[in-house]
Amino acid sequence: MTVKTEDDAFEVIRSHRRGVLQSELRKMLDVDSRKCSRLVTKLIEDGRVERSDYRKDGVKTFLLRASRAPADPSLLLAGTELIPCVVCEHECVVEECPLLMDWMYQLAIEEIQE
Ligand code: SF4
Repeated sequence: MTVKTEDDAFEVIRSHRRGVLQSELRKMLDVDSRKCSRLVTKLIEDGRVERSDYRKDGVKTFLLRASRAPADPSLLLAGTELIPCVVCEHECVVEECPLLMDWMYQLAIEEIQE
């Protein structure tokens, strides 16, 4: 058995977009529950992982998810124009949205001018 690090645990957690149960993580990493708990605790303390209570077959465990990095607000702007999705009330069909197309066109112009 190789030594598992927090980074190993984080990679497994991050690869499961819907999260992974701590009891499953332990098996995937091939570590005992104590070691798994230590790895997870460190990841939580570092803000890399979020943990919530979960019951599977009546047994208490935890659901682990990678923390999301806060969005960069500048990515929502094309120049001074805010992406239309923020206040949109239309039924969304992204591929056919003229509002989004106009915004992306504006974004492309802004990038060319920089
Ligand atoms: S892509 Fe268009 S329809 Fe969808 S949320 Fe954005 S602005 Fe609204």
